[in-house]
Amino acid sequence: MYNSVEVVASIFHSPVSLGLDRSKKLQDQLIQYLTKLVHINSVNPDLSTEGQQEREIAEYVSRHFHQLGIPTQVHTINGDRCNTTAFLKGANPEKILLMNGHLDTVGIEDMTDPFNLRKDGDKLYGRGTYDMLAGCAVQMGLAAYFKDQPCPISLAFTFVADEESLSMGMEHLVEHYLPSLPAKPFLGIFMEPTEESIGISNKGYAWFEIEIEGLAAHGSRPEEGINAIFPLAAALQELEIINQELAQEKPHPYLGHATLHPGLISGGTGQSVIAAMSKLNWERRILPGESQDKLDTELKRVISAIENANGDHTVKARQTFNRPPNEIPKDDLVVKLKKAAGNTNYNGMSYWADSALASQAGIPSILFGPAGHGAHAVDEWVSLASLVNCYESMKRFILDFD
Ligand SMILES: [Zn+2]
Repeated sequence: MYNSVEVVASIFHSPVSLGLDRSKKLQDQLIQYLTKLVHINSVNPDLSTEGQQEREIAEYVSRHFHQLGIPTQVHTINGDRCNTTAFLKGANPEKILLMNGHLDTVGIEDMTDPFNLRKDGDKLYGRGTYDMLAGCAVQMGLAAYFKDQPCPISLAFTFVADEESLSMGMEHLVEHYLPSLPAKPFLGIFMEPTEESIGISNKGYAWFEIEIEGLAAHGSRPEEGINAIFPLAAALQELEIINQELAQEKPHPYLGHATLHPGLISGGTGQSVIAAMSKLNWERRILPGESQDKLDTELKRVISAIENANGDHTVKARQTFNRPPNEIPKDDLVVKLKKAAGNTNYNGMSYWADSALASQAGIPSILFGPAGHGAHAVDEWVSLASLVNCYESMKRFILDFD
């Protein structure tokens, strides 16, 4: 195939054209990694029947490091759910930078050709390109660069399963791999899509569930039963009031307000039957600094509202799941990364990410990744120019420790 960049380089041999050649080579290399990463189905099997566990993609990534001569391991979490790690020892072996990407993607429903990378100008289309196989390709590119170059610090490359569902991969990494490192990493960079901004904060979330119990009876004789659906109105009303109160609180500079929303509602067994049971699940998005006590108080308010509603129903309620918010200070390291990334801006990400679990384990962790569009949507793409920028920013950041 005709390649204009190579022709230009061979005619002029100027530093500029050689630079162009190098950048074309880098682009091709990153596209090659991303093509393969996208091609392997790594749809989270908990989210879609078309999903596949992460072993195949984890082994592909591990082979890359093995071929570079960098010690690597595929970790089995259970079945074929797998993480991959690799460790490159630097001049200062105990100064370790943790890098992280998740191998799983969301489902592919209604997408055409989700596993074949398609290039359209600067846009690289395909499931997972943006969220976040591009970040994984950056790690692979950095490994290829630093295997031949003196690296001032050690690099812990990590690729995890299941971020899109329950983060079993990151939990396994925190429990089994991070403690095995020669020292605790001084910083974690999670290459989720951030449009090249430095994601110093993200929201957490908690899930709540209430079950209201009544007594079934014939629809024509409600006095013989206890309706378990009517009291839901009081619960929903209280949730709405709490949500309005949250919107009145002082907003977080990057994340805005905490919110909640009812996500699931169910109950009853038939239209002619007094409902003996109903259930309501809601999600609360949590800002850095909000306490568990505050969440508990909100839950108690919803319980009281249901208890005070008309009828002899009973209520059971609980928090079923919780992921912490994350925020790290703008210290020297973060400023250094911002500089390396071309003085981009700080930002907060509304979504939750595995970085919060690393921060919780004592490794301050941030989000930094490429620009693109369509995370969890049918038209997902990542910008090639931005992918290259992220790679170059990371390289500059690492080399700057010299
Ligand atoms: Zn992601």
